[in-house]
Amino acid sequence: MANPFVDDAKVITEDNPFESMMQRFDEAATQLNLDPNIYKILRWPNRELTLYIPVLMDDGNYQVFTAYRVQHNFARGPAKGGLRYSPDVTLDEVRALAAWMTWKCAVVNIPFGGAKGGIICDPRQMSPSELERLTRRYTAELLDFIGPERDVPAPDMNTNEQVMAWMMDTYSMHARHTVTAAVTGKPVELGGSQGRREATGRGLLIVCNEACKKFDLEIEKTRVIIQGSGNVGGVAARLMMLEGYKVVGMADMTGALYNPAGLDVDAVLGYLKEHKTVEGYAEAEHMSNEAILEMDCDILIPAATENQINSQNADRIKCRILAEGANGPTTAEADEIIAEKEIYVIPDILANAGGVTVSYFEWVQNRMGFYWTEKEVNYRLKHIMVGGFEDVNRFCDKYKVSMRLACYMLAIDRVAYDTHLRGIYA
Ligand code: GLU
Repeated sequence: MANPFVDDAKVITEDNPFESMMQRFDEAATQLNLDPNIYKILRWPNRELTLYIPVLMDDGNYQVFTAYRVQHNFARGPAKGGLRYSPDVTLDEVRALAAWMTWKCAVVNIPFGGAKGGIICDPRQMSPSELERLTRRYTAELLDFIGPERDVPAPDMNTNEQVMAWMMDTYSMHARHTVTAAVTGKPVELGGSQGRREATGRGLLIVCNEACKKFDLEIEKTRVIIQGSGNVGGVAARLMMLEGYKVVGMADMTGALYNPAGLDVDAVLGYLKEHKTVEGYAEAEHMSNEAILEMDCDILIPAATENQINSQNADRIKCRILAEGANGPTTAEADEIIAEKEIYVIPDILANAGGVTVSYFEWVQNRMGFYWTEKEVNYRLKHIMVGGFEDVNRFCDKYKVSMRLACYMLAIDRVAYDTHLRGIYA
């Protein structure tokens, strides 16, 4: 009975991310011998909002969009998490993503709870002014629930610095003064942090470096495949290439490129920027973005979307290290298969925590009104990511569990302890 939202009679599918999250949560809670009352409480999100947002479209008609904000947990501080725009957004997905934010912030020990937002829309079919009106109305609807001390949104899939600037402005107009700390991932000129844009990719680089140290892998000989060329995958590919790794595979939504001699990451990203597709790129073998996951490599970084590694393809994954750039790229069913193959997993809630970590720095800087250099930001990011990596490995050794379970156990243990300390106001 992993998913509290469905009764046992209903069929639960592998590709429901909330189900994937709850299965691991239940397993970790059992291993931890979690207090039954705390367990009962942590199985549920704190609050879920569903909004129906009317937006004036450029043709003069109104369209109503369905939007969500799930605030999963506040035990350790204000809720924190991104906002995604996609036609595929579902409430169960946003629920899972909100819970993952709670566990992610706890794994790297930053003082936030977890939340996530999603709007069902196709941003590629919308003009910038339609997106602005959608964003502003969504923010206005959430005024009572968000803010620096309540819930701090940030970018996620298909949202960016511009969307955050609109959110910050809308929030500030209602507050009657500028509230930079209301959202993170803003443009640097408006109170964004240096290094935030690269932070998730940089965090991935840091944990991959730590894993290489652990297994005595020579960086220059380490072959990396990255699925996803956006703010996470694209940045990770570039930083890994600069570090000396051999990036042999890259992919975006349109397909994948493979070159065992190493890809020129800048050339690929430049080509993608110009052509919006990998099609026609000369210096590589072409394949589908599913097939690239099955190619031989040392480090595989799925940095696109959920459920990419599942019970159908997990036994064909050939990497030595799986570093999860996306949220939920591996299903719970695939976990077992991956474990049998003795692949070392750096789970999403650790591997991609660099983004929210620098979001935390941004929030801190906004509240101080004092800004750090990129060097300071990167130094602190490294300190937090390495700390998280070491904490998870310690749990792994202590309890003799997988890295995945160790991550959940560490996070749940921290949130449970703080919940217990605060007491339950009932
Ligand atoms: N959307 C990012 C994530 O999934 C960042 C969230 C944040 O910075 O609050 O971790």
